[in-house]
Amino acid sequence: MINKNRLQKIIILVSAFFVAFMAVLSIVIKIMTGLNGSRNEDNIKRLDYALYDIDSPPVQEMLLTQNVNSRPGIEIGNINGVVIHYTANPGTDAEANRNYFESRKDEPDTYANKVSSHYIIGLDGTIIQCIPLNELAYASNNRNSDTISIECCHPGKKGKFSTDTYKSLVHLTAWLCVKYGLDKDSIIRHYDITGKMCPLYYVNNEKAWNKLKNDIWDYVLSHKKADGN
Ligand SMILES: [Zn+2]
Repeated sequence: MINKNRLQKIIILVSAFFVAFMAVLSIVIKIMTGLNGSRNEDNIKRLDYALYDIDSPPVQEMLLTQNVNSRPGIEIGNINGVVIHYTANPGTDAEANRNYFESRKDEPDTYANKVSSHYIIGLDGTIIQCIPLNELAYASNNRNSDTISIECCHPGKKGKFSTDTYKSLVHLTAWLCVKYGLDKDSIIRHYDITGKMCPLYYVNNEKAWNKLKNDIWDYVLSHKKADGN
């Protein structure tokens, strides 16, 4: 009799404990999946690019002559990024660099002569376009096939861009991001592809690189259409 009572008590206690344990467990699971769910949502949340509108910056079209070295005329696929470069030639301006690309057309068909870029931004912020956006440029190694390239002129050896170059770069890159629906992480340096010290100042100064990306993204976010909500 006594044993039976004790046994019943034990069974009730164990059952109660089990029910309580399962209740707590289900609450914990709900909280965990809830947190994970919202975190995943943040990760995949992309801008609704249709709500953003950036005017194209003024661009001087000085397209290269089609040639096997600097403008092969190969159609580019989906655009997945914008690659920032520096000319590594202090004090030279956009047109001189564009003419250097153009001069490759008379050179032998070699890997070393395959250099170009979709855009070059001059010391005064002038933007020259060398390659149409639906054609590949030879600037970013294995990312030539899915990125738009921007070369930036710079006054000094350290490769820091002038204020005017910087402003045009921010505007042009922001416009490209909205045009192609690219997120902030799609803005990369040549360095991020091959480890090349390009654009030098923005490889040596991670803070300056992050600021540049933030400035570009702020530009995008500040161009939401007024009636876009
Ligand atoms: Zn580069």
